[in-house]
Amino acid sequence: MSIGFIGLGIMGKPMAKNLLKAGYSLSVYDINADAVKEVAADGAKACSSVGDAAKDAKIIITMLPDSPQVEDVILGAGGVCENAKAGALVVDMSSIAPESAIKVATALSEKGIRMIDAPVSGGEPKAIDGTLAIMVGGKQADFDEAKQVFDVLGSSALLVGEIGSGNICKLTNQMIVAINIAALSEGLFLAKKAGADPSKVWSAIKGGLAGSNVMNAKAPMMLEGNFTPGFKVDLHIKDINNAMKTAQENETPIPLTAAVMQFMQAIKLDGHGQSDHSALAKFYEKICEETL
Ligand code: NAD
Repeated sequence: MSIGFIGLGIMGKPMAKNLLKAGYSLSVYDINADAVKEVAADGAKACSSVGDAAKDAKIIITMLPDSPQVEDVILGAGGVCENAKAGALVVDMSSIAPESAIKVATALSEKGIRMIDAPVSGGEPKAIDGTLAIMVGGKQADFDEAKQVFDVLGSSALLVGEIGSGNICKLTNQMIVAINIAALSEGLFLAKKAGADPSKVWSAIKGGLAGSNVMNAKAPMMLEGNFTPGFKVDLHIKDINNAMKTAQENETPIPLTAAVMQFMQAIKLDGHGQSDHSALAKFYEKICEETL
């Protein structure tokens, strides 16, 4: 099956490589020519435009930063909507605002092009291993068609509901992760201030009720002061922004998320926009005048 793949960044590049390894024929495009060259060296067809990557594909996967880039690549001049064949299936795997997914899918449907939104969780390591968690919004038949591709990219793919539901699921995930990271920092800094070794506190509590994937992934980074991304603060701010917009549209208070957004903005101002989101510990470092 021919797949068009657009967006070869931290996530898209290993995902595209896994599809090539599984035997799919890929036409790839990114504004970063080096990324295109690297994936072409693994056997993909290098494309010089979005239209080139989309025109012969049965499935078109996009893995882009946010809603504006997805809207531009799909609906903009020379984009997917202008170039894909009627009957093609667009699988947007970026994390974007749910209303943007609905807008793009509606415009595509007027050209007979189908779309599902399928954001992922798991970060670069799981993109490399092909063990991402994939959360999907759209029609059952379209999900079924994409399932063979999801089986290469992830260890689980679940149809959550109609188009946009994949991104509702993803922003819920991002709220819970952000609040968890903040709670972890707050706890470890209090432990340190109160005279306990935060590293031993982590070891003592990680098997208990407070233990979590977030704790296991992020506590070592905080304790080492190693904030190499991983998942960047700037991208998490983008996701929380989408959560806050969705909350406003649905008149739903999300006070904890709103508070963590302020911590994220504060560390971004201090130059940590490109750091891993575990750098939330830096917020506490500043107000506690203490390091872990
Ligand atoms: P990234 O910034 O590394 O990659 C995005 C890629 O899109 C870049 O290579 C960029 O050149 C390309 N791009 C941007 N505009 C383009 C355009 N107009 N045309 C073609 N290419 C364009 O980001 P990433 O970390 O790979 O994340 C991609 C998406 O996946 C984001 O929505 C992110 O929130 C989500 N996500 C990331 C992670 C993670 O750990 N990095 C985990 C889960 C989900």
